[in-house]
Amino acid sequence: MTTTRNALVAGSGIAGLAAALRLHQAGWKVRVIERAPRRRGGGYAVSFAGIGYDAAERMGILPALAERHITPDTMVYVRRDGTTSFTVPGETVRALAGPRNLNLLRGDIEDVLFQAVRDHAEITYGTTVTGVDQDGDRVRARLSDGTEAAADLLVAADGLHSTTRARVFGPEARFRRDLDHMAGVFMLDRLPDGVAPGTTASMTDTGRTLAVIDLGANGAAAFFGYRTADPDAELAAGPHAAIPRACGDMAWVAPQVLEQLGRAADVYFDTVSQMVVDRWSRGRVVLLGDAAWCVTLFAGYGSALAVGGADALGAALEEHGDDVPAALAAWEARMRPEAERKQRLGRQVKGLYAPKDPVRLWLRDLPLRAASNPVVGGLLRRRLQLRA
Ligand SMILES: Cc1cc2nc3c(=O)[nH]c(=O)nc-3n(C[C@H](O)[C@H](O)[C@H](O)COP(=O)(O)OP(=O)(O)OC[C@H]3O[C@@H](n4cnc5c(N)ncnc54)[C@H](O)[C@@H]3O)c2cc1C
Repeated sequence: MTTTRNALVAGSGIAGLAAALRLHQAGWKVRVIERAPRRRGGGYAVSFAGIGYDAAERMGILPALAERHITPDTMVYVRRDGTTSFTVPGETVRALAGPRNLNLLRGDIEDVLFQAVRDHAEITYGTTVTGVDQDGDRVRARLSDGTEAAADLLVAADGLHSTTRARVFGPEARFRRDLDHMAGVFMLDRLPDGVAPGTTASMTDTGRTLAVIDLGANGAAAFFGYRTADPDAELAAGPHAAIPRACGDMAWVAPQVLEQLGRAADVYFDTVSQMVVDRWSRGRVVLLGDAAWCVTLFAGYGSALAVGGADALGAALEEHGDDVPAALAAWEARMRPEAERKQRLGRQVKGLYAPKDPVRLWLRDLPLRAASNPVVGGLLRRRLQLRA
């Protein structure tokens, strides 16, 4: 008879909560510890497709996620002076997204996972892992509240700057590949004047992007992305100093959006960096999500990959019974090609993201400009529907 196995999960982001849910479904007892003093909602709209979508279906959370789907509407590309450069109609945006693809706020994914797992896992906030020891049978984590927790598996789902990874695998600098951009995201309580209701509007000024998505009764969300030669200095300055310094002169709705930055509840502000870790597990400690691979928002797949990775981890543990290291090796063999493919995509998108050079910017927008043309848009929609 197998006894119930138990897992400790560091981090209650998308990867951590998905792992908690999937391990519970696999019959494990789960405890999650989160550094933040409370839940972290927030984030911009993310695309949720591929292995994340399939995993959500298997894990039984797809209906709840589908209820939160934001039907993509008109996308408006704006010039610096606020005049419209071109518009891609909602029907073309929806056709481009394709089937089995949800457009979700990152905070809504967090909420759906939290509601699904809250009664099945113990979640402790304001706590971190301060030390890790393991032998062949158990892993023991010292926690910042002075206690110790022993488990069959420690899942480090504590994000890009994972301190659990630093303790077990080595310092972050050894694994971090910077893509020389910063990203800042926060919710707005008011749609800025100049952004039409029901639209996603964006402006790319050389080296910088500001986008605002209208969320109807839920306000709006703002996204700033900008190039930098020194991501660590930006990170150290923090969002309230760094974003206005980098984007304060962007014109259009930037002043209105920045005025709301000061009162935003949870600002996501981070370097756009990938994690390149040669092996994602050491004994009974496994990295998951951004802590393991971080494909970046350029790949647009981080949350889907985190949920897909959690599901595959649960399946591997089910398959390999008590042999946890064998399960982790099988899981990595399954996940690595997908994560590396998405990392390659992220690196390709980097050059196109917020180009410094106006010619590259114009070239980057060319396909979307074409899609904004009614004839090309109609052809595109018909072609995509035929393929679907
Ligand atoms: C508030 C927020 C907003 C985001 N917004 C966007 C967005 O708009 N677009 C986008 O592409 N990506 C966004 N991301 C990143 C995105 O969520 C991830 O790329 C993806 O979902 C994979 O998530 P993850 O769970 O691996 O990492 P994360 O989402 O970074 O979650 C890691 C969690 O671990 C916690 N943590 C950190 N250190 C410790 C520690 N030492 N001990 C315990 N817990 C710890 C963090 O507080 C966090 O809750 C956001 C992340 C957060 C936290």
